[in-house]
Amino acid sequence: MPRNWDIVIKNALLVDGTGNQGTYADVAIAGDKIDRVDRRIPATAKTVIDASGAVLCPGFIDLHNHTDLAALAYPYCESHIMQGITTSVVGNCGLSMTPLEPRNLHLLKQYLGPFLPAGFDWGWDWRQSGEYHRRIESSGLSMNMAPLSSQGSIRLAVRGFDSSESSPSEIEEMKRLLRDELEEGSWGMSAGLIYPPGCYAVTEEIIELAKVVSDYGGVYTTHLRNEGDRLVEAVDEAIEIGRSAKVKVEVSHHKALGRHNWGKVNATLREMEKARKEGVDISCDCYPYRACSTTLTACMPPWTMVGGVQGMLERLKDTEARKRIASEIRDSSVEMENMIKGSGWEGILIASCPVNHEFDGKSLAEILSQTYPNRDIYEAFFDFMLEINGEASMVAFAMDEADVRTVLTHPMSSVITDAWLTKAEATEKPHPRSYGTMARLFQRYVREEGVLSLEDAVRKVTSQPATVVGLPNRGLVREGFAADLVVFRPDSIYEESTFQTPNQYPRGIDHVIVNGRMTVAFGRHTGALAGRILKKTVI
Ligand SMILES: [Zn+2]
Repeated sequence: MPRNWDIVIKNALLVDGTGNQGTYADVAIAGDKIDRVDRRIPATAKTVIDASGAVLCPGFIDLHNHTDLAALAYPYCESHIMQGITTSVVGNCGLSMTPLEPRNLHLLKQYLGPFLPAGFDWGWDWRQSGEYHRRIESSGLSMNMAPLSSQGSIRLAVRGFDSSESSPSEIEEMKRLLRDELEEGSWGMSAGLIYPPGCYAVTEEIIELAKVVSDYGGVYTTHLRNEGDRLVEAVDEAIEIGRSAKVKVEVSHHKALGRHNWGKVNATLREMEKARKEGVDISCDCYPYRACSTTLTACMPPWTMVGGVQGMLERLKDTEARKRIASEIRDSSVEMENMIKGSGWEGILIASCPVNHEFDGKSLAEILSQTYPNRDIYEAFFDFMLEINGEASMVAFAMDEADVRTVLTHPMSSVITDAWLTKAEATEKPHPRSYGTMARLFQRYVREEGVLSLEDAVRKVTSQPATVVGLPNRGLVREGFAADLVVFRPDSIYEESTFQTPNQYPRGIDHVIVNGRMTVAFGRHTGALAGRILKKTVI
């Protein structure tokens, strides 16, 4: 029976998210749900979209990003929504805005500082995730967010930037905070084991917390303890956590950093396959670029960050400490993610430097040689750190394209942005993944290189991430599922953002529907704020 639907999309190639071959079908939406999927549906709706020549698929689910850190500043989620992302899984890499312990608020601000948009008054008047999410919902949001709790923020709330081993009572306190967050509907816990203070936790401490996640049927996502020289050992640790805590594990942005480590992902993927056969539910994700992006302080040995960024800056005023840090980085003599060795001074670009945006887009090699001519490069780097108060984000070219392809095309991987929120008017130079990830997936890896089928690429950004998180009723085009949908043109989808001019939306993504609302129509944001905070139902 024809009825008055809200939206009918006709004549599209329907790629439903399962990975099955696309078929021509129409889709009708009533309210916030997909009401009908059929070969032909009459065009009796308030809005009828003719999608001839285009693909209709589930809205993209970005399993790993940091958009929660900017949701209040960017309610329209421009850089995400314009690339077709309708749901963001947030709170990754052990970084989140909660729990907020007033005693340690100054440390949390420093911890998250490089990741937060500058010049925005946050208020910082929440404590638990439920309160923060109500703040986001009250200002509105263009996409859905599914929150994870974060081990880094939890440890910071209990222990600040203390690198010593936690006592049993401190671990109990962390477990209590984690339980509160899971009761609020978080989907699991993330860790960022290169970032202080989260990285100060030994494996057993993580296992204790992961057991709580397991009790709630959640997922443990991990930025591994090392993605370079000790990548294999770090994957082993993630598997051990999965096995001991009986928890589902997602290895975040899987990669091998540094030329001398390239190729190691072949071994780590095999390790993960083996663990899966042995009953550990482990999978991974990746972003489709050779460069990573994080805070500039990730270049420093972890011990320098005891006491937070301020502690690190104090150490940089000491000649002996400078000598020690320089030798540790130069000789790779401590266990750390050696970003400088992995990328070289010329391979690290400043993405955003709040103290002086003149540095944005320039390489460390260029900045250091121009600002401190004839000075030893390490001394120059330490002077620079002091000058900018340790506050900058960076883009680092440390990966091999062959590795990117290996992880991207593996059946167990999802494709992610790992991005912050931004918009085209921004002046910083963020990693182009902020805008271009989804377009790049379909342009480069499906159309140009043909290493992924269209259907498999869609699966990697829809049902696969939905399954990892356990998100119900999203990630497939099915009757009764949420009406989160994307219409894009597979022959003319283009990533427009580049490392030098990143602030550009992709081309070829025509329509984005979030919870039944047209949020992008004919390539333009409609201003709709139909997103929701998606919470896990606690049984
Ligand atoms: Zn990370």
